[in-house]
Amino acid sequence: MVAPWRKAPVAKINLAIVGIGKIVRDQHLPAVAGNADYRLVAAASRHGRVEGIDNFTTIDEMLAAMPSIDAVSLCMPPQYRHAAAVKALAAGKHVFLEKPPGATLSEVADLQALAEANRVSLFASWHSRYAPAVEAAREFLAGTRIRSMRVVWKEDVRQWHPNQDWIWQAGGLGVFDPGINALSIVTRILPRPVFATAATLEFPENREAPIAASIAFTDAEGLDLEAEFDWRQTGRQSWDIVARTDAGEMLLSEGGARLSVDGRLVHEQPEREYPGLYQRFAEIIAAGRSDVDLAPLRHVADAFLLGRRKVVEAFHD
Ligand code: NAP
Repeated sequence: MVAPWRKAPVAKINLAIVGIGKIVRDQHLPAVAGNADYRLVAAASRHGRVEGIDNFTTIDEMLAAMPSIDAVSLCMPPQYRHAAAVKALAAGKHVFLEKPPGATLSEVADLQALAEANRVSLFASWHSRYAPAVEAAREFLAGTRIRSMRVVWKEDVRQWHPNQDWIWQAGGLGVFDPGINALSIVTRILPRPVFATAATLEFPENREAPIAASIAFTDAEGLDLEAEFDWRQTGRQSWDIVARTDAGEMLLSEGGARLSVDGRLVHEQPEREYPGLYQRFAEIIAAGRSDVDLAPLRHVADAFLLGRRKVVEAFHD
């Protein structure tokens, strides 16, 4: 744990966003607009623009032109995030990393060291951890014995990631792009760290990243945990975590939005993942700290290290 370096800032945080695409328009812009701690002052993107603020085509031009920027959210695909993060941190800006925080574990460690050296906050955001029922699931599991857990994350890639070439390229994570959201929840709600013992990754013959994966995990007490990720799902989509426990069967469904025990709904609240992320980012800036938990990315890296590879039918958008 590094000692805090800042007193609480008195003014609003002048924020810039880089990589204006789907997630910025769907989530970042409304979340920032709804948070009085921030003033959105600039955007940098090769093609995307945000109305009503200063727009640049590169982060270099933006940082040079606007020294008043305090913090930068980096929302481009993961393979291009480290280079931008180095520029922002070296310029003394606090940095919010979209998930996954980078393409490799080592490059994120490099960013942690740079943030510490420059005495600014680095936030590796995991939006699914801020889904409404995740903390209730964590509390439920803390009070009982878990016999087994199944994670089933199956969605239609054509519906959720149409024409996103980067996601199929090396470093784009493929099915682990949504799968890492499940792992971010699992690593938050379980009482002990887990580790992979076996994995199978299915690669379309024409792609660099997997379309499906299954991973078996255990923990120091022999937990039986299996995760299944599949992008070929049509019809009903599932983002479910089921735990058989001494206190009944827990179902955390809809990506962490609803919690049921033995079929009875026990927790459901309106979705506020990105408002929660921006609240947390402002808190760590005020406290002079970073928040970088690499466990979800480490599990994906372990699956790539340990996984048996199967080549499957080509995938075309
Ligand atoms: P996206 O729309 O495909 O990409 C975001 C923007 O990044 C693009 O519009 C593009 O803007 C810029 N970009 C693309 N390729 C680039 C490159 N080679 N170099 C620099 N910039 C590049 O993707 P997204 O869905 O918003 O996802 C971005 C990140 O957010 C990913 O890490 C993803 O996992 C995460 N995320 C996405 C979702 C979702 O539902 N989509 C949800 C949560 C988190 P310009 O062309 O204007 O530069």
